[in-house]
Amino acid sequence: MPFPKVRTRIAPSPTGFPHVGTAYIALFNMVFAKSQGGEFILRIEDTDQVRSTAQSEQMILDALKWAGLEWSEGPDVGGQFAPYRQSERREIYQKYANELLDKGHAFRCFCTPDELDQMRKEQEAQGLAVKYDGRYANLSREESDQLAKSGKPFVIRMRVPQTGVCTFNDMLRGEISIPWESVDMQVLLKTDGLPTYHLANVVDDHLMQISHIIRGEEWINSAPKHKLLYEYFGWEMPALCHMPLLRNPDKSKLSKRKNPTSITYYRDAGVLPQALLNYLGRMGYSLPSEQEIFSLNEMIETFDIQRISLGGPIFDIEKLYWLNGEYIRKMSADELKNTILAWAFDNDKLTNIAKAIQPRINTLTDAVNWAGFYFQNLPNITADDFAHKSLDNEKLLEILQIATWQLESLPVWSEENIYKTLKGLSAHFEVKLKDFMQPFFIAIAGSSSSTPVMNSMYVIGADMTLARLRHAIEVLGGLGKKKLKKLEEVNKSLPNFLNQE
Ligand code: GLU
Repeated sequence: MPFPKVRTRIAPSPTGFPHVGTAYIALFNMVFAKSQGGEFILRIEDTDQVRSTAQSEQMILDALKWAGLEWSEGPDVGGQFAPYRQSERREIYQKYANELLDKGHAFRCFCTPDELDQMRKEQEAQGLAVKYDGRYANLSREESDQLAKSGKPFVIRMRVPQTGVCTFNDMLRGEISIPWESVDMQVLLKTDGLPTYHLANVVDDHLMQISHIIRGEEWINSAPKHKLLYEYFGWEMPALCHMPLLRNPDKSKLSKRKNPTSITYYRDAGVLPQALLNYLGRMGYSLPSEQEIFSLNEMIETFDIQRISLGGPIFDIEKLYWLNGEYIRKMSADELKNTILAWAFDNDKLTNIAKAIQPRINTLTDAVNWAGFYFQNLPNITADDFAHKSLDNEKLLEILQIATWQLESLPVWSEENIYKTLKGLSAHFEVKLKDFMQPFFIAIAGSSSSTPVMNSMYVIGADMTLARLRHAIEVLGGLGKKKLKKLEEVNKSLPNFLNQE
């Protein structure tokens, strides 16, 4: 028996908000491990140093914990295979990349970014698939060493067979075959000495004794590279299980444009963690008893991975809210009271709200009107509410869409960053800040007479803010694909407003 124990992992990359898809995959990993008497661990895959942030990591850990997921090893709790953050394991990957180099399974590639660009353009012009053409694969070791010594920057790429097919087994899909010619000579170690996902993932899964890899189906095409790496190293490959992707009600891949996708949003919208897990547990899965409402323990006790069906499961908010309602009705009044209090009682948030409404209220009852929107889900608004003296519907949509993109890419959700972004945008659109802000009042507070809206955005948090902005865009009629593409270009051309005074 190559793996003494069942060990599974969730391996999020801390590059954004905590996605419900991460909780979904984590749930099935945890349930599978626990149903087999095994361990479930958490590893942070932050090899993309440009996009990874500490804030995102913290949000992901907090959100998964809130949902009721528990790992026995991880960056927050330690464990026998620590560290569990890939950025702290650089030397390990370098050692293994060099091992592949020495064994001839990998080679140094000295292509400059311009050269690669040229290669891509030529392939595109000829209608070929874009991939590395192997131009440094046959350099002798001496030449390669010499170039490296001379200080020429390089990456390390893995060798990949050019013919034949790679066949591997998937626990749900059976045998999968992928032709080698469609597999790129993957970069394993970048110019800065940091590994790519593929190398770090394989090395860590091996060193952390992961026995089963349960992950989203978007990783199927990576499996040949991984299988080859396991072979090159002479390691046993864990069993692979690719889960179906969550989908929007129109069957497209679950996307925040059509559905809020952040776990934190659902928490703030008043979804109970046990209802969320129950709902995610029903995505492509049913208990042998077919019961719709079940606890985590019931799921673990009866779990059978073969019951996962591959038809794309639909993440339908209305159904989630229905299920949540069932959980609410199962509580005693006392339990519900405590649950509501615990949900609403966020000390910092309440203090911020008190500060914001203080100049505006005369009696405490006024607080209900002024503070209600901080606790709501999406506001009840129509396109007419946005009627503006100088901005037409098209301009409103442009502003809200670009602001949404800009705000979602903020490295830190602070009032100062929100202010700099919106002020920068109002200058860019040549609209006075006061006029520019009006649609934001409607989108966030549902009314133009409200507490200062940038502060409100900060207080309700990034996820709820972005969900309300996206809702406003929908209410205003939404944006077609063509228009979105055009706006994306505009968005890309904008300066970094955070650097401006
Ligand atoms: N870091 C990858 C992700 O963000 C992990 C994929 C895997 O499970 O291998 O999804």
